[in-house]
Amino acid sequence: MSIAVTVWNEGIHDRENEETQGIYPDGIGAALAACFPAPDFTTRVVELDDPDHGLTDDVLAATDVLVWWGHAAHDAVADDIADRVVRAVHDGMGYIALHSSHHAKPFMRLLGTDCDEKFRVDDERQRIWVADPGHPIANGLPEAIVLEDSEMYGEPHNVPHPEATVFISWFEGGEVFRSGCCWRRQRGRIFYFSPGHETYPIFHHEHVAQILANAAAWARPVEGAVDVTYRHAPDRPESGG
Ligand code: ZN
Repeated sequence: MSIAVTVWNEGIHDRENEETQGIYPDGIGAALAACFPAPDFTTRVVELDDPDHGLTDDVLAATDVLVWWGHAAHDAVADDIADRVVRAVHDGMGYIALHSSHHAKPFMRLLGTDCDEKFRVDDERQRIWVADPGHPIANGLPEAIVLEDSEMYGEPHNVPHPEATVFISWFEGGEVFRSGCCWRRQRGRIFYFSPGHETYPIFHHEHVAQILANAAAWARPVEGAVDVTYRHAPDRPESGG
């Protein structure tokens, strides 16, 4: 069965930044959706300005993996919608946070830290090293991917220690960054991928598309225990079993 991906695109740079429009004439959301080809994936794109930011209960219930690209308007996301996304992740929905979405409300609430880092927009070469070649998100990739121009994100990154660090980036200016990291929160799997500044064609890069597709396949809900009792358990399990 195909994996249902919902791309959440903030949609502001697509409207207001001519450089972004030149790189992504159909919008960043459409470029991201193209990273998840049929028949393995079905995609939909929703935006900040949609009712409920496009994240109604029905949409989230029909979503296996939510991909989030936001930058200029994190505070415009309503608290109750952010909490709705967090609950969906806790219930098993996968969540892929891209680039500056480390400062989006759902990601910060899921991780519990301020997620700050160093940054510099100066057209720097970035070499994304595969740090965990056995991880499914690295499937089919070369040992390193070079982006000729990118925004520098540098350590330290104030996130909880990841369960897996799949990619580490080196930058021309000398900094390094854990650019692809995994966490779990309750039943949900979370992947953060840092490349993707809006004035560079990073989401057109074939290996970046491969990373995102791999990440969605990894983050899709997994089956697990059912009928789990939290809090008060009124009856003792049968003894002797
Ligand atoms: Zn940026």
